[in-house]
Amino acid sequence: MTLRIAVTGASGRMGQAVARAVTAEPNTELVNFVARPGSHLVGTAAASIVGDENCPITVSEVLDLDAVDVVIDFTLPESSLVNARACAEAGVPIVIGTTGFSEAEQADLASILTSVACCQAANFSTGVNLAYRLLSLAAQVMGADSDIEIHEAHHKHKIDAPSGTALAMGHAVADAMGHSLQDVARYDRSAAREAREPGSIGFSVTRAGDIVGEHTVLFSSEGERLEITHKASSRNAFASGALRAAQFIADKPAGAYTMADVLGLS
Ligand code: NAD
Repeated sequence: MTLRIAVTGASGRMGQAVARAVTAEPNTELVNFVARPGSHLVGTAAASIVGDENCPITVSEVLDLDAVDVVIDFTLPESSLVNARACAEAGVPIVIGTTGFSEAEQADLASILTSVACCQAANFSTGVNLAYRLLSLAAQVMGADSDIEIHEAHHKHKIDAPSGTALAMGHAVADAMGHSLQDVARYDRSAAREAREPGSIGFSVTRAGDIVGEHTVLFSSEGERLEITHKASSRNAFASGALRAAQFIADKPAGAYTMADVLGLS
């Protein structure tokens, strides 16, 4: 059976990558492609954006959930909250890739999405989700004896920092060591005139050019260093992971599913 998918963020880099992945996959169909209200793309043939002349729909400014099996949303937190509410009301599962939610927005999202299946991930790539598992193991084995630093690099347009993925990596490491990331994370050392605090996890960020997404977690102990690095070379890695998540949750009971569930890592 063909899975009918609505994709939001039609003018965005990820929305377009996801829509291309949906039209390229034989068992899925792009049935609603939604741009921000007032966007110049509203009314444009989706075929010209996704590069598939068989795609018959035009870009709309309304998320119409009448004949949709699952929604994939990569937009902005405010917009994702609106889309999540619409999905909850219509009983449609949703995949959320948007990052940068405040704690309050994240709590709102969780309370909105209790009645449908959802999968939210800061990073939908297979490699990153496997890296979380590797980081947890590294933290258990050498975390107590190491200085741990997380560096991430993204393109110059990204507005949230550190990336959601860097924070998720921090959580994987801190959780494995029985700490709360909030207690051990250090985001800015510019005001501290002191040596590195033992047990802290430092974050550093690069914003430049068209870097798709790079993350390195360094475990540095006396005499050796372990670095676990992931590099995304194209948004297709995130788009195909999000599509895989959509296929996974489409027929699942209400609940919050993770990429570990989708990839069989949980
Ligand atoms: P982008 O700025 O290119 O696109 C965001 C788009 O959302 C914009 O085109 C904007 O017009 C659109 N938008 C805003 N409000 C909207 C609305 N009400 N309806 C429809 N569209 C609306 O950004 P991007 O690079 O595509 O990234 C989008 C989000 O996805 C960011 O939060 C980014 O950090 C995140 N992201 C997540 C992953 C992942 O794997 N989870 C990977 C890459 C990016």
